[in-house]
Amino acid sequence: MARFSPSIAKNVMTRAMQAIIDPLPSPPEVEKLWSHFEGKCAYCGCTIERASRTGHLDHVRAAAEGGSNNVFNHVLACARCNGDLKRETLWSEFLERTVADPLLREERKARIGAWLARAPDRPVTLQAQAIIQTAVDAFDRSVAELRALRKPRAQGSLGAANSCPDVRCPSGATK
Ligand SMILES: [Zn+2]
Repeated sequence: MARFSPSIAKNVMTRAMQAIIDPLPSPPEVEKLWSHFEGKCAYCGCTIERASRTGHLDHVRAAAEGGSNNVFNHVLACARCNGDLKRETLWSEFLERTVADPLLREERKARIGAWLARAPDRPVTLQAQAIIQTAVDAFDRSVAELRALRKPRAQGSLGAANSCPDVRCPSGATK
C-alpha cells in the first residue's frame, strides 16, 4: 500500500509543526533534569546508572492528555516505574503506592513538585493550535479535491480497455 497515505502525512505534518513550538528537551535541559533528581528515580529513589541507558524521561502529563514535551513535564524514572508500574496513574497517587515511608514520600513529592512548578502554563498556545489547524484543514481540502479529480477518470475507463495508458491500471486491463 501507499507508504505516504494522506492520514500518515497529516499526522507527520501535525507533529512536525507542534515540534516547532513544543520541542523535546534539549541535551542541556536533560542534563538539568538528571542533576535535579540526582541521578535517582523520582518515584522509587533507586540510583540510575546513566551509562546503562535505563533511565527514562517520564511524561508526567501524557501527550494524549495535552501534556507538553517540555522538560518540566518530565521526571527521571527507572525502567520499572516508567513502564509496568506507573502506566496511567497520577504521579502523586503512584508515589503513595510506591513509597511506604511517609518522610521519604514527602521529600520525593516536594522534589517532583518543585520541578513541575517550573513548567510554562501553556506551551502550545491556542494561537499556535489555530495555525496548525488551518494547515490541516487546507491539506484535507486538497486531498478531497484530488480525490474528486481522480473519480471521473476511473469511471470513464471502465468501458474501453484501451483508454487507460497505464498498464498497471486494473480498470483498463480487466474490465
Ligand atoms: Zn523507580
